Amino acid sequence: MSMRRVKILIIGSGPAGYTAAVYAARAMLEPVLVQGIQPGGQLTITTEVENWPGDVEVLGPDLMERMRVQAEAVGCELVSDIVASLDLSERPFRAVLDGGEEILADAVILATGAQAKWLGLESETEFMGFGVSACATCDGFFYRGRKVAVIGGGNTAVEEALFLTNFAEKVYVVHRRDSFRAEKILQKRLFAHPKVEVIWDHVLDEVVGERDPKGVTGAKLRHVATGETQVIDVAGVFVAIGHAPATELVAGQLEMHHGGYVWVKPGTTETSVPGVFAAGDVTDSVYRQAVTSAGMGCMAALEAEKYLAALGEDVEVAAE
Ligand code: FAD
Ligand code: NAP
Repeated sequence: MSMRRVKILIIGSGPAGYTAAVYAARAMLEPVLVQGIQPGGQLTITTEVENWPGDVEVLGPDLMERMRVQAEAVGCELVSDIVASLDLSERPFRAVLDGGEEILADAVILATGAQAKWLGLESETEFMGFGVSACATCDGFFYRGRKVAVIGGGNTAVEEALFLTNFAEKVYVVHRRDSFRAEKILQKRLFAHPKVEVIWDHVLDEVVGERDPKGVTGAKLRHVATGETQVIDVAGVFVAIGHAPATELVAGQLEMHHGGYVWVKPGTTETSVPGVFAAGDVTDSVYRQAVTSAGMGCMAALEAEKYLAALGEDVEVAAE
């Protein structure tokens, strides 16, 4: 098992992690970035991104590939592994990777982003991968000429539904209220699409399916006010009810806020442990965008640079 010491360890390879990598590398801090299970982060599971500055339209996976290339080109070392555990109780901080490598770091930038939320239904778990999915880009192709349901009312749900119209014969969007929180421009596209039917004020009660062969045949919906239920015939159910911050590594070690996001000192990326910085969706309960995540990645690298410089001075003073 190998062990090494670095100045800055960046955990996560979404817009926040890669931007932090660019700034830290250009500050000659020789950062090491561990990419995690989803190299490129959440944007790798979407198609067109239309609000990244400078691009009228860019495919999410292409944008993230460009960020990866840039991070490497300026001198960041990318490690294709997962941080399995992180000890922030003393400096240097200690990360152990899934592959066994141990990394000691003077500063850590946590950019672990967020993961899809699930409804928590037994039938949802039972049919996961057999008709239940949280990623239309990954699984939409399997529903060519079939009917599907998307659960949720945010940007992700509306985008997933629009994407699924490329394959499916019909797309139901089931939302628990009578209005969406998705951007108006996306809503307009959705309402105008002939293959889409919105079912307002309903929640998913149960995924209906067969066991042999295993597959989804319907979705049992319940009206939130009357309690009345109906079953719609669908072969796929796409759950798009948002994302939860990926904080397992730092649970019990960093202060949290807003139901599980890593707390940072307002206006900074400084967490409750000096030397540990958090950027992107893991700390942001409000904006949760690629561009804001990238902005926070930049802030984290600049703040880490300052922290390390002060640390260097402290060490020199202590040595005198
Ligand atoms: P993420 O992109 O979530 O990346 C997190 C990274 O952390 C991943 O690389 C993961 O592998 C890594 N990681 C996690 N745990 C570990 C670990 N233990 N060890 C090592 N690495 C780890 N935003 C927009 O601005 N425009 C859009 O059009 C848009 N479309 C979207 C479409 C979809 C379907 C989704 C889901 C989101 C979309 N978003 C969009 C939101 C945007 O993707 C996020 O705001 C952004 O990706 C957050 O960046 P991040 O760097 O904080 O984290
Ligand atoms: P979100 O904005 O949090 O929306 C989640 C949706 O799911 C809401 O409509 C919510 O209903 C519904 N929901 C939550 N829990 C539910 C439950 N238990 N049962 C039924 N419905 C439930 O999440 P998101 O759409 O994934 O977006 C996350 C972030 O990424 C946002 O900041 C978004 O702007 C960003 N994003 C941006 C783009 C883009 O810019 N094009 C694309 C995708 C995502 P309520 O409305 O009733 O709360």
